Amino acid sequence: MITELDIGGVSVDVVFKDIKNVHLSVYPPTGRVRISAPCRMSLENIRLFAISKLGWIKKQQTKLLSQDRETPREYLERESHYLWGQRYLLRMADVDEAPGVTVEYRHIVLHVGTDVPVQKRQAVLDDLYRRELKQAAKPLIAKWETRLELQVDRFFVQRMKTKWGSSNPGLRTIRLNLELAKKPVESLDYVILHEMAHFLVPDHSTRFVGLMDENMPSWRMVRQILNEAPLSCGEQFLF
Ligand SMILES: [Zn+2]
Repeated sequence: MITELDIGGVSVDVVFKDIKNVHLSVYPPTGRVRISAPCRMSLENIRLFAISKLGWIKKQQTKLLSQDRETPREYLERESHYLWGQRYLLRMADVDEAPGVTVEYRHIVLHVGTDVPVQKRQAVLDDLYRRELKQAAKPLIAKWETRLELQVDRFFVQRMKTKWGSSNPGLRTIRLNLELAKKPVESLDYVILHEMAHFLVPDHSTRFVGLMDENMPSWRMVRQILNEAPLSCGEQFLF
């Protein structure tokens, strides 16, 4: 059983174990924080312990953040790229028409000229990710609208440096990280539920966790997979 604490904006997983001393870890690649505590230790004492270590935790997280991630993409023939958790090889198709992108069995085909710069190739691929993510998000949002009995007025897909998603309950909007199109679709479902649950509970209190447990019993596993997935160059997710 994992309990989640919010310590000055830092999410801390607490696990009670049959051990003598409390133990604090910050895990790569995302800087996830976990405290293993003796069963008899009270949550209040664990909270005080975490607060006393907050400076150290943030220093470790910053260190992880500055470490090199996945190598930068060059968008070349046979380079690996992911879509919905599946690996595809890039194929370049030299065409005269407007640039575009298609998905075939095991291949993502970029219809761009051979002399097109890397940034343009990335933009063409990002268009695919944006299109795929918008298409996949719509029915998932509709599902959670029915289940949670609330409404999302608009959702946005964008590049986000530090989060998988965010929400504005007042405006009834949610934002989804473009990178989610590279992960298994369960991750998108989890992030959408998480952001929509914030319409009902603004923080990560036990009420919020209860809401998650009730609607997606496997959410911790999905979050763990999401946070352990390889990250794009220079990106760091704390969620
Ligand atoms: Zn949240």
